[in-house]
Amino acid sequence: MVLGGKTSYVSAMMTALKNLIGLDREELALEMAAIGEKPFRAKQLWHWIYHQGETDFAKMTTLAKTARVKLAEHYTLDRPEVSRELTSTDRSRKWLLKFDDANEAECVFIPEEDRGALCISSQVGCTLNCTFCHTGTQKLVRNLTAREVLGQLMVARDSYAEWPSGRDDRLLTNIVMMGMGEPLFNFDNVAKALKIVMDGDGLSISKRRITLSTSGVVPMMQRCGEELGVNLAVSLHACSDALRDILVPINRKHPIRELLAACRAYPGANNARRITFEYAMLKGVNDSDADAHQLIRLVHGIPAKFNLIPFNPWPGTIYECSKPSTIRRFAKILNDGGLSAPVRQTRGSDIMAACGQLKSDSQRAPRKSREASNTEIAVRPGA
Ligand code: SAH
Ligand code: SF4
Repeated sequence: MVLGGKTSYVSAMMTALKNLIGLDREELALEMAAIGEKPFRAKQLWHWIYHQGETDFAKMTTLAKTARVKLAEHYTLDRPEVSRELTSTDRSRKWLLKFDDANEAECVFIPEEDRGALCISSQVGCTLNCTFCHTGTQKLVRNLTAREVLGQLMVARDSYAEWPSGRDDRLLTNIVMMGMGEPLFNFDNVAKALKIVMDGDGLSISKRRITLSTSGVVPMMQRCGEELGVNLAVSLHACSDALRDILVPINRKHPIRELLAACRAYPGANNARRITFEYAMLKGVNDSDADAHQLIRLVHGIPAKFNLIPFNPWPGTIYECSKPSTIRRFAKILNDGGLSAPVRQTRGSDIMAACGQLKSDSQRAPRKSREASNTEIAVRPGA
């Protein structure tokens, strides 16, 4: 089986085998029953799929040989096809993934010294049009299925050979739902995928290591906290409704006051697990001293921290990134106001992997200019 390669994609399409990735325990039990196997055997199947990362039914040695044969006749465990895999000079890695209907989405791994976060997409494109975000300019939009959300993690684990789950030496320790799309507009699929990710007998990444970022889909925030209990990040980016209406247009529906009330009520948020307010630093737009002081007033009483993101420019944008000295000054004002406000390092900029730059290939610049901008990247052989 060629992992994520064209062969597996084409063969799966031709024989229409059902893909088991993304199924929860109950659904796997139903599939076992459908091929005449005892449903409780699904526990072993679950372990092979999500703990061992096995893609070949023949190697699932705790299952009877006849069961393995039947599984291979009816099902597949193929990952999404990897259209491109790019590794940055700073070691961050980006995958452009192609799904069964040829739609594409990106995911990015940002390694650090002894840990690393995988930035996962929840939609192809995004229905929201935050004016400073590249993804928001993409026309084609659809929700990703639970399988497609999970597929991103499994491709990354495959790529770093980090199976079985829970290895002490693993680099991929954290997940951030900060790729393409608004995760709370695709809550059912994202929730299903994250519940599988958090299962201790499977992919085993705890809720404390998962952060979901929302642009402010207020009606879904409470449910997200109650059902998933993951860390919450909120794309604030402005301290007045007048500006936020422009930068993050969902603000017209759910203004800052409503958004912050939902943050105050977010289940599980406390001083040890603060809500992260993301703030893209836009030159002359939202980066004044007065803005910083107003932010301190706004989040008063919320267990909050800030994440200052130097704006990542993309072709055609009208915005510019604030000067480093302005960002430092802004951070200091927040710090002096008692708020942690690290400046997010721009990683993977040579492979357009930085925040807000994710946008699938088919909608990007013509091939010529893409090649020109990719001169410094290392492309894995065969990718
Ligand atoms: N849709 C979700 C999650 C994805 S974006 C959300 O908006 O929260 C992850 C973060 O990157 C968000 O805070 C987003 O506003 C920010 N972002 C988008 N485009 C950016 C850009 N060009 N430069 C810096 N940050 C950007
Ligand atoms: Fe969508 Fe988030 Fe980009 Fe806004 S910032 S357009 S919500 S992906």
